[in-house]
Amino acid sequence: MQGVGFRPFVYRLARRHSLRGWVLNAEEGVDIHVEGGKARLNAFLTELRLEAPPAAGIADIEVAPADLRAFDDFEIRSSTRGGPPTVRITPDLPVCQACLSEMFDAEDQRYRYPYINCTECGPRFSIILGLPYDREQTTMKDWAMCADCARAYEDPADRRFHAQPVACPACGPLYVLYRERQPGAKAGAAIGEAVRMLRDGMIVAVKGLGGYHLACDAQNEEAVRALRRRKYRKEKPFALMTPDLESARGLVVLSEEDEAILVSTARPIVLASARRILPGVAPDNRDIGIMLPYTPLHYLLFDAGAPTALVMTSANRSSEPIAYRDDEAFERLDGLADAFLVGERPIARRVDDSVARSSPFGAVILRRARGYAPGAAARLPASQPILALGADLKNTVTLAVDGQAFVSQHIGDLDHYDALQAFQETVRDLLEMYDVDPDDLLVVHDRHPQYASKRFADELPGEKLGVQHHRAHIASVTAEREAVGQTVVGFSFDGTGFGDDGSIWGGEVFAGSVVEGFRRVAHLQPAVLPGGDAAAKVPVQAAAGFLHELDGLPDLKDAPFGFPDRYEQACELVRKGVRTFPTTSVGRLFDTVAALLGFTREMTFEGQAAIWLEHLARSGSNSGARSYPFPDLDFRPLLTRIIADRARGVSAADIARAFHRGIAHGLLELGSRLCEEHDADVIVVSGGVFQNQLLLTEMKTLLEKMERVEIWTNRAVPPNDGGISLGQAAMGAVASLSSTT
Ligand code: ZN
Ligand code: ZN
Ligand code: FE
Repeated sequence: MQGVGFRPFVYRLARRHSLRGWVLNAEEGVDIHVEGGKARLNAFLTELRLEAPPAAGIADIEVAPADLRAFDDFEIRSSTRGGPPTVRITPDLPVCQACLSEMFDAEDQRYRYPYINCTECGPRFSIILGLPYDREQTTMKDWAMCADCARAYEDPADRRFHAQPVACPACGPLYVLYRERQPGAKAGAAIGEAVRMLRDGMIVAVKGLGGYHLACDAQNEEAVRALRRRKYRKEKPFALMTPDLESARGLVVLSEEDEAILVSTARPIVLASARRILPGVAPDNRDIGIMLPYTPLHYLLFDAGAPTALVMTSANRSSEPIAYRDDEAFERLDGLADAFLVGERPIARRVDDSVARSSPFGAVILRRARGYAPGAAARLPASQPILALGADLKNTVTLAVDGQAFVSQHIGDLDHYDALQAFQETVRDLLEMYDVDPDDLLVVHDRHPQYASKRFADELPGEKLGVQHHRAHIASVTAEREAVGQTVVGFSFDGTGFGDDGSIWGGEVFAGSVVEGFRRVAHLQPAVLPGGDAAAKVPVQAAAGFLHELDGLPDLKDAPFGFPDRYEQACELVRKGVRTFPTTSVGRLFDTVAALLGFTREMTFEGQAAIWLEHLARSGSNSGARSYPFPDLDFRPLLTRIIADRARGVSAADIARAFHRGIAHGLLELGSRLCEEHDADVIVVSGGVFQNQLLLTEMKTLLEKMERVEIWTNRAVPPNDGGISLGQAAMGAVASLSSTT
């Protein structure tokens, strides 16, 4: 990865070993020419591997002899070639160890300075206004460097050589605490007062890297409850920040892999099992989302005595996108935060915290934003630039150009006006950054005629390509692995997507590849959905459609089911065929099962019933004795057994467990048969349903008994709709190549 201080690092290393030559950012990576004695060259090479900045992520080092040029010095050369560089903008980086040591050193120029950074750390994507990336084109443009900062900036031997946001307390921006929109304490005093407020159970809006957080003491039940009330967030879990790994370990159970994700340069929120219940933080949920500090300010807050489990949730009301401009924050968070800790450095664009978790198939990214975006997610050759607009929920946008697929940060749900604005800005942003003329584009969009992203595509110049939602899910997985020619059997399970026949799909099985196309070879037994996608909020409404396919139902109004009137009303729609739509959605099947096991109320956030069901199942028996039949994705025998078991008093947790096992079993049985039929040895799984960790665990267990078959799932982009744009881009890239031959 370029732009992470790698060239200055090479410079210092070469000087340390008295080597001469140059270093240069080149198209395919970094070119280094070094001249000197063999021992020193070897030492240089060893240390190059060992000491490189962590964010550089060296994939490979090739060494070849070169002609001796007898240079008398070592220098950093500016790029000579005119072509577009492979990577123009790098993701934001967490503050590095060297900067932290300086920040806590009372003798240092940047002692306790919340905007300390160097070439190996600090903001990038969130401060860039335009290209090329230099100070005048960042949100630091209004601060002139002092003589000391300028000296560091100009000196190739300095860790801050060409660190664009370099600043110090003498010349740079500060933090100011606002109460009732009036500025008050500044710098250290502002941080001290914010910490006192947090300890007193108050809610403080804290400006971060890509937006505002709302912070409060996670162990203060009153504060957490007040935050939920003011934020109109009834039950959706809050993410926490802890000062270090040690305190994170006290709150959640962390595997080695979890810890690796936590400390990775993206510093995402990591979901892990809670050790104890923090009331109100994550209702009905066994997991807590936890992250470590990543800006200097976070470290200063904890150092000043902030509570060691701090709620740090995106600053917004209910489903609005995160606030990132100061005026917008004051406006939208009025009455929500007791004070605002406002950093003077503006944020150029909204970048949420990323969310990840470990799974039996490796780390899974559930929300790809800060620390990952707008990095390349895969190499993707195409004959023209491809702009893929994603899906309307959990939207991201992908631009494939120069052989790489750049995936935007998580944008959100486009039915929200602010998110739609952000979506359009992101498209403009990407085209500008990579210098793409909109007329040259192949624009790829979802086939849903009512999607805002599809309507936006209609307004763009350039060629258009519609890609079916569930095929895009499967393509996202093979695109990540740079295996678009690979024949696979793909299971695309999610809540909703526009099907070839106009019905609501979500339980689709394909055979083929991105190159040859994906043929639908199986699907969930169809049901109907009263109210269509509106049923996604009400599990008993989905249940009315699915249970309609069953004979001899007991009265579900009675115990132990206790369905509310809403169920009867939905059944009425089904019987009359009014506002009732055919569906193959596995997401709604999960909702139906959740309803049968007790989730009979309305959901307060997307996916809640399925998450509830997974957590219920995790508390169930792991004996492996019980598994429900799901032959060829027919849910009828499965639901029949669930109702019978529930009626005779089997525990809901055990039933939920057996349901997960049944889905895993049915999927793999069908998958391996289809693999044989279609001469494939890879089963791809993608779509929101596969965010379910228990389902993946059950699949992994079963897989160990199988030969030949391998399972691929997403690892660079989310399995949910956040991954759709990459899949679309892959389909577009292949289409562009075949149309030119
Ligand atoms: Zn640093
Ligand atoms: Zn300065
Ligand atoms: Fe989807």
